[in-house]
Amino acid sequence: MKKEDCIFCKIANGEIPSRTLYEDDQFRVILDLGPATKGHALILPKEHAADIFEISEETASGVLVLAKRMAVKMTQKLHCDGMNLVQNNGEAAGQTVPHFHLHMIPRYHNDGQKINWIPGECTQEELEAVKREITG
Ligand code: 5GP
Ligand code: ZN
Repeated sequence: MKKEDCIFCKIANGEIPSRTLYEDDQFRVILDLGPATKGHALILPKEHAADIFEISEETASGVLVLAKRMAVKMTQKLHCDGMNLVQNNGEAAGQTVPHFHLHMIPRYHNDGQKINWIPGECTQEELEAVKREITG
């Protein structure tokens, strides 16, 4: 997809209005239009990159520093009880907008939301084989 057609490029760069919680030269933090919980926010880099594979290391490190600051502020203001950071890469992983974004999802006791996976099972041998596959 061309970045001229990218909705998050337009939002991040202010061509399409959004509920902005924070903005600087590199990032815009907005409220998600379909919030999983109250305060669900997205950190968008202003420079287009589809996913974790395309963002620069500089952007990658900036995202987590900003997420930390936003998590503190959002928790102070919203009095949430926890926070999920979620970041999807690729259709198979549930990514629907191909412009890198980090979800910040405040969590509240008994909020009824579910953001977890089904735990699997595997043997020590299987773990060892996967470790070798990745590190070998
Ligand atoms: P993904 O599934 O790609 O990880 O997440 C995309 C997120 O973007 C979804 O949570 C969806 O609600 C949100 N979203 C999609 N279009 C818009 C939009 O135009 N504005 C805002 N604020 N959020 C959007
Ligand atoms: Zn984009």
